[in-house]
Amino acid sequence: MMDRPESDKRVQRPAKTTLKTVRADTIDPAMLDQDALRVISRLRRMNHEAYLVGGCVRDLLIGRAPKDFDLATDAHPRQIKRLFKNGRIIGRRFKLVHIYYGQHIIETATFRRDPLSREAADELVATRTGEVEPAAEAELPDDLLITEDNEYGTAEEDARRRDFTVNALFLDPLENRILDYVGGLDDLRAGLLRTIGDPMVRLAEDPVRILRAVKFATRLGFRIDDSTWEAMCALAPSLSRSAPPRVLEEILRLLRSGTALGAMRMLRACGALSVILPQVDAYLGSKDDAADQERADTFWRLMEALDSYVHSGFVPTTPVCLALLALRVIEREADPRTRTLRGAPPDLAIVVSEVLDPLAITARLSRRDTSRAKRLILHQKRFTQPTNRRFRPLVFLRSEEFPEALDLFRIRMAARGQGWDIYEGWRARYEAALKAPPEEFAQQQAEAEGEGGPRRRRRRPRRRGRRSPDSAPGV
Ligand code: ATP
Ligand code: MG
Repeated sequence: MMDRPESDKRVQRPAKTTLKTVRADTIDPAMLDQDALRVISRLRRMNHEAYLVGGCVRDLLIGRAPKDFDLATDAHPRQIKRLFKNGRIIGRRFKLVHIYYGQHIIETATFRRDPLSREAADELVATRTGEVEPAAEAELPDDLLITEDNEYGTAEEDARRRDFTVNALFLDPLENRILDYVGGLDDLRAGLLRTIGDPMVRLAEDPVRILRAVKFATRLGFRIDDSTWEAMCALAPSLSRSAPPRVLEEILRLLRSGTALGAMRMLRACGALSVILPQVDAYLGSKDDAADQERADTFWRLMEALDSYVHSGFVPTTPVCLALLALRVIEREADPRTRTLRGAPPDLAIVVSEVLDPLAITARLSRRDTSRAKRLILHQKRFTQPTNRRFRPLVFLRSEEFPEALDLFRIRMAARGQGWDIYEGWRARYEAALKAPPEEFAQQQAEAEGEGGPRRRRRRPRRRGRRSPDSAPGV
């Protein structure tokens, strides 16, 4: 670990040009994407600047396989399009070119600059540090939120408009060198995540960067620089102004990252969780209350179980992620002893809606994902409760959502450290069901449909002694 330099704690002013060029000897050429190299070579032959940029350069330098290879160039979209028959211009506001090699797409972007003028950002920082009269602040846009991001710029401007120093490195694969305008190489070596420029300005411009900071810090195991962390804590409330679908997308990415536990804890520590997932944050209660902690542990164990499943290659679908976020809250609201909402707990299906609907509305979730998440939760009781006369196992096992319901059940059982045998039993039944003769399936389906009409309600005595492994009734 590096000692934290004193300057980390001060508000930083945008730095002057400090291009550092170093050889990229540590990058294994076998890890480079051949199609991306083809695009760069062609742009360079036509006298354009063209580099690999962003996450792929960061990942290559630390020996991780990049998810995708993004390119940045000084060629404008139309110029790119003219050079590549297989290129397609996409986007309305800021245009990119997608260059197709079969199914494989190389995203090629023209260098852009930060829409907030550097003078304005400078002035804002100066105001905050007391270097100029506060009156100057009145001339600044009172809302720093980025609304326009479509001005073309130079390579340096393109580096500076990016979020974190480690995400702003250019790789010139033909000359085998790295171009570093923002001190990203030093931060990468130190395992430090730091915004480019003043974190208060950069995070206010786009509060989703707070979630991105959590994602990169947990995924890469990087420490967050002090002033960036302080700004994350101070600006967490402004996440309420970000577009809900973007926020949801980042939450889903965190849940799929394999470091959901660390990420959720970090979101809570900086105050972002209470803004983006208020019900989950309320469920976790107070750090100083032992009973709250015990309850919170059931959520953390779920995140831990999710992470270990993800490490084995599992990619949770959106409905599974939503179900995992809501499950504990639903269990709590379904139990009369712990319910916090008004009135006695209604039917489980209604409790599920009470919890998931507000989330679906704020995150503008699709109706399909929301209703699927609800059904996954409602199906859980089928795994552990005695079946009734109407239950047709083959229809359940061969239903489209069965695999997701089983994934959710697996994570629940792993979190409990109990019920694994039940999971394995269902897994075996599922495999057998896939091979079941079509006639058997058709018959059960016909029976189920035959009983789909209005049902006679008959009260039956409850069987005793076979409770679901989860404490809440029915979930
Ligand atoms: P991943 O490996 O998750 O794809 P990434 O760094 O490639 O990580 P992307 O979301 O694919 O992240 O974005 C590509 C690059 O675009 C980033 O590395 C960063 O330079 C820039 N970028 C993305 N989102 C933002 C943002 N909100 N603000 C500023 N720059 C951003
Ligand atoms: Mg990327």
